[in-house]
Amino acid sequence: MNDERPGGAAPPAPADRASDPLTKIYVEPTNRCNLSCVTCIRHSWDESFEDLSWPAYRNLIEGLADFPEAETIAFAGFGEPLLHPRFPDMIRLAHDSGLRTEMTTNAMLLTSALAEQLVDAGLDQVTVSIDGTSDPSHGAIRPGASLDRIVGNVRTLYLWSLVKHTTPPGAGRGVKEETMAWLREVAGEPSPPIEMADYIYPLEDVLDSMPPAPVRIGIEFVAMKSNIHELPGLQEIAKKIRASFILVSNVLPYAPELQDQVLYDLSPTSHESGGDPRNPLWILPRMDWSRETLEAVAAVARQQANLSYLDLNLGQRNNYCPFIRPGSLAVSCHGGVSPCPPLLHSYTCYIRDWKKTFRRCEYGNLAEHSLGSIWRQPDYAAFRQRVRTFEFSPCIDCCGCEFAEGNETDCHGNPFPVCGHCLWARGVLRCP
Ligand code: SF4
Ligand code: SF4
Ligand code: SF4
Repeated sequence: MNDERPGGAAPPAPADRASDPLTKIYVEPTNRCNLSCVTCIRHSWDESFEDLSWPAYRNLIEGLADFPEAETIAFAGFGEPLLHPRFPDMIRLAHDSGLRTEMTTNAMLLTSALAEQLVDAGLDQVTVSIDGTSDPSHGAIRPGASLDRIVGNVRTLYLWSLVKHTTPPGAGRGVKEETMAWLREVAGEPSPPIEMADYIYPLEDVLDSMPPAPVRIGIEFVAMKSNIHELPGLQEIAKKIRASFILVSNVLPYAPELQDQVLYDLSPTSHESGGDPRNPLWILPRMDWSRETLEAVAAVARQQANLSYLDLNLGQRNNYCPFIRPGSLAVSCHGGVSPCPPLLHSYTCYIRDWKKTFRRCEYGNLAEHSLGSIWRQPDYAAFRQRVRTFEFSPCIDCCGCEFAEGNETDCHGNPFPVCGHCLWARGVLRCP
């Protein structure tokens, strides 16, 4: 489907989208966590803690047989997936069903034994949450987390991934352990307990000459005023854990004191990617990023400009739902099916000085219904269609009435849930 809307002309959409393709499923294995980060949504909850039941998860995987476009299961949500007692089994079932498997983790519980199990089960991608480049700065946002331990744990997972890649299928335990020991040696790996300063790199060239590990590793960084200066340092950490991507998101303040930490100013922006008279499209060519060019482009960007760089429209993500548009849904730890991770739970947050209370939205529960019957429900299909055309009131820009305090309705008369406040649809918040 072509989502471009040149000149602001939206293509007519079919009325019945019950047969929309479903491509990616976000699964929240648990809402329990071993950490208590200052930025965590769980501080605004009074929910009980729960693990996704095995029957509900199996029902999900079996139901995906009716969705040939389904490619990926992403284990994420609001909790630490590694705390689910059957997490490696979840990966294995998805992998054996032909699905790509991804997970987001704080990596503190990623022991060598667990890393080996996950790799063997068929894990394809790990995104590790890192919010600072030193133990004190990371620990200030994620109390109790140790950056040294995280780096050591993810690096071990990378090595297990290489072991799987370089040993013959069905290789015995002894062969794998020998290969691991050799890899640790050539990687210059120190003996535990590992400190970052202990890493030595002269033999990293050996790893560079090997084929890429089958497990793709990434970093997720939540940028705030207190840690944005550490962003460049992620390059070095990415090298240590062999990360192939770094995803930067903004913070959504779930507590009032975090409002001072945001790095975005949500002034009205153009709603049309092709440009409009309120906010024209700036078309930029390739240029060197020198101080001179960066200062000029930053000055343009500060005007909330609609920017296009090398034909990539940087403003096109206004009113673009990164979950519904590509064909995703989200499953909560109690088996509920929601349209997106942000609608998995009820919570309070703060946007442009407004306290907002958003209510969870579910269209069914996998403990009781099949995935297909939930997906085809007329009210769920109608909601997906509303999100595609995005005819919600622009509550972020306006904040003009009490409807802006929640997601119940808006002045266009849209029924629950409404998305005119959504910072994911503005491209401000990102998920792997
Ligand atoms: S690791 Fe994630 S779920 Fe756990 S406390 Fe931190 S932000 Fe919350
Ligand atoms: S626009 Fe936002 S709230 Fe609405 S479905 Fe998409 S992510 Fe969820
Ligand atoms: S619902 Fe209220 S806050 Fe939202 S756009 Fe309409 S008047 Fe503004």
